[in-house]
Amino acid sequence: MLKFVREEVESFMHGLVKRNPGEEEFHQAVREVTESLMPFILQHPRYKQAQLLERLTEPDRIIIFRVTWEDDDGNFRANRAWRVQFNNSIGPYKGGLRFHPSVTQSVLKFLGFEQIFKNSLTGLPMGGAKGGSNFNPKGKSDHEVMRFCHSMMIELHRHIGEDTDIPAGDIGVGGREISYLFGQYKRLSNTFVGTLTGKGLSFGGSLVRTEATGYGCVYFCENMLNRLGDSIKGKSVCISGSGNVAIYAAEMAGKLGGKVLTLSDSSGFVHDPDGIDEEKLSFVKELKEKQRGRISEYAEKYRKATFYADRRPWDVPCEVALPCATQNEIDQQDAETLLKNGCIAVAEGANMPSTLEAMKAFREANILFGPAKAANAGGVAVSGLEQSQNSLRLQWTHDEVNTKLKSIMKEIHEKCVHYGMKGDHVDYVDGANLAGFVKIAESMLAYGAV
Ligand code: GLU
Repeated sequence: MLKFVREEVESFMHGLVKRNPGEEEFHQAVREVTESLMPFILQHPRYKQAQLLERLTEPDRIIIFRVTWEDDDGNFRANRAWRVQFNNSIGPYKGGLRFHPSVTQSVLKFLGFEQIFKNSLTGLPMGGAKGGSNFNPKGKSDHEVMRFCHSMMIELHRHIGEDTDIPAGDIGVGGREISYLFGQYKRLSNTFVGTLTGKGLSFGGSLVRTEATGYGCVYFCENMLNRLGDSIKGKSVCISGSGNVAIYAAEMAGKLGGKVLTLSDSSGFVHDPDGIDEEKLSFVKELKEKQRGRISEYAEKYRKATFYADRRPWDVPCEVALPCATQNEIDQQDAETLLKNGCIAVAEGANMPSTLEAMKAFREANILFGPAKAANAGGVAVSGLEQSQNSLRLQWTHDEVNTKLKSIMKEIHEKCVHYGMKGDHVDYVDGANLAGFVKIAESMLAYGAV
């Protein structure tokens, strides 16, 4: 990067850190985007004059509230919850809710910020938002989760709406939670409209929504490989996580002929040298979705597999890596290990799973690196399709939705190539950031000082 561009980046980041003290995850997400955008902004003075970066990094509003609920022993408990409505330049606010003890305002701001660009990349009219709570659903009974969701919606319902802000799931928020949230929303608002996505199929949900993030991530990876005349077929694939994203990434990687070697959760990872095929995946789905069990049980059932406690899967040699667990799960050392072991493609199923140092290592090595904004946009894209179906009052078939998802991922890939071409290779990080930005920037410029 040229010296004067670097200085502009540092001066912008200095101000941002001062305005948002202690919010490290948010700083990290903004730095990555700023490094991509600054050279472009400096070449196009109208973007600079309009202070677009300053405006884009300040959320439109953040709603912070207390959620009081009653546990099964009759004790009153309280958690903090947030909705970060980040930017609605190109459509109503849209983004998931995360329930996890690690949730802070900084985490939700990083996720909401990423969501602005991701949603723009899908080509659908969706602004960026994120919300959630530090509530930990792990170990809670169904009734406790229900009471928490119902209580949360008592406050949240007045801030959301089908044309205002449309929440969905994220870590800790799946079909069960969305159903409780939607049931309460419907009652409080006396409407039946698509204000939440990820709903059950019997009440306005879309086919393929559950699979969408994982499938989309693999489609994106396949697009990157196809561009070089290659494919996932016959490749070894390491996947982290064992939630919806990981499970359906594994399923699609297998369908396209890849051999999935690993899955993980917060307690460690399993390595199955024989490959995690469809039948074994059904076991994982059952284990995780119905019994809410640990991935270690996989190695108890399939004896050729080994469970490694408290470790991440990145030292298992593979050609394709799909981080599908959580933020900052690949550090510089993990990235170097993956590269040393012959990894040629990384597609991020989770949000910001690579640290800035890990990203740098991948980009400098010139391997295929699909950043989260592009690679995991399939989930929110099918959420957008769920909204379309709700507005049309009809339901598309599995094939119709899957075909649309595939073509959206292909178009995202093309946009990244268009904006990320550097000589004869594509920098997908710059490509995704720029392609996402231009659409939002044009809208913001058109609106004037709002
Ligand atoms: N939480 C998902 C994401 O990170 C999906 C959001 C949505 O469907 O609104 O993109």
